[in-house]
Amino acid sequence: MDSRRRVPRTDLVLADPRLAATVGRLGRAVVKDAVAHAQRRARQGEIAPEEVADAAVAALPPYAASMRPVLNMTGVLLHTNLGRAPLSAAAVSAAVSAAGSADVEFDLATGARARRGRGAVEALARAVPAAEDVHVVNNNAAALVLVATALAAGREIVVSRGELVEIGDGFRIPDLLVSTGARLHEVGTTNRTSHADYAAAVGPETGFVLKVHPSNFRIEGFTGAVEVAELRDLGVPVVADIGSGLLAHEPLLPGEPDAAGALKAGADLVTASGDKLLGGPQAGLLLGRRDLVERCRRHPLARALRVDKLTLAALEATLRGPATPVHEALHADPAALGRRAEALAGELAGAGVDARAVPSEAAVGGGGAPGVRLPSAAVSLPERFTVPLRTGEPPVVGRVEGGRLLLDLRALPPDRDGDVVRAVLRARG
Ligand SMILES: *Cc1c(COP(=O)(O)O)cnc(C)c1O
Repeated sequence: MDSRRRVPRTDLVLADPRLAATVGRLGRAVVKDAVAHAQRRARQGEIAPEEVADAAVAALPPYAASMRPVLNMTGVLLHTNLGRAPLSAAAVSAAVSAAGSADVEFDLATGARARRGRGAVEALARAVPAAEDVHVVNNNAAALVLVATALAAGREIVVSRGELVEIGDGFRIPDLLVSTGARLHEVGTTNRTSHADYAAAVGPETGFVLKVHPSNFRIEGFTGAVEVAELRDLGVPVVADIGSGLLAHEPLLPGEPDAAGALKAGADLVTASGDKLLGGPQAGLLLGRRDLVERCRRHPLARALRVDKLTLAALEATLRGPATPVHEALHADPAALGRRAEALAGELAGAGVDARAVPSEAAVGGGGAPGVRLPSAAVSLPERFTVPLRTGEPPVVGRVEGGRLLLDLRALPPDRDGDVVRAVLRARG
């Protein structure tokens, strides 16, 4: 009989105890997908009909969601396509414990409703004493939309032509702002904007002046920009979109603005991301003058932009907890990275792999600190390892340079080095 006709029926395969046991953990749909995949392989003659159950077990994903944890060896600390900031263990466990029913807006002492996410809000306020009040939304884009809607809908936002930034994937801050019903009053030129440009533009129609940190590009040469401190005399609120979410000055990134610094310089409101240099979950932070934060928080749109309890838990743990993985990666000692690369390359070379330790350069990425190069170290492998490593379990993503695959160690937590050795040995095939 044609082996295609002998491919076992789904219900028979699902009766395999290994698969039946998994239904409770992953759900029926996920297990059936694995069975269907194995049946297809049998129909195409890739495996024998009696191997279908084994192949289905092998094809079972580790989780019910298809998103997979990845080892980031690109040398880009905040890799947008790899989920930007990896959370600290403290933030992960806080999010996990908030995942069930939790007192996110409930006062256990009185049994009454309480301010949503007050722990995260208090932690943020404590981390930036210069802010009179703070609010948390879905991401920095949401923070900008909320500020533009609450403070400038039907009115004007004054912004420099040198700060009309595209943040990625085709999304542009000017389009985002205009979508709220605010009008942009552009001032200056691409390379130079002066205080007089701002002063001439500000009038009764002005909702606020916006300063956008050019976080993902640099212009050099004949340039000029006006600092936040020089805009405080214009008589209208100054909103500073600092981008990266640094709350305080970071000496390693001297050009990167921070929330405390922007507020001290005179910004009335600061907006920032939670999942860039702050090293936390995706979130948008609003910090600054109490009346302005309150107008944002009370605006009907705030409800549409509010954050999930998982985010609030992870953000609080990020703010109060130990140093984040992003902080550790940023502050990693290049000599220690070199020693890790030597150890990994030595172990792989001992197993017959053409591996060597090489110096490398890492970057902050994720729209932060453009032009800052962080000395790093990498394991260099033949380029043919690229695809097997990327499609392996766990996937290892490096970068190809000069015909070699470089696995950069700066963004990889040191406790994952052993996983890299095993992945490379498996990828050798
Ligand atoms: C990254 C960035 C944004 C967008 O932030 P999200 O949190 O991704 O929405 C906005 N402005 C600046 C300056 C940025 O760097």
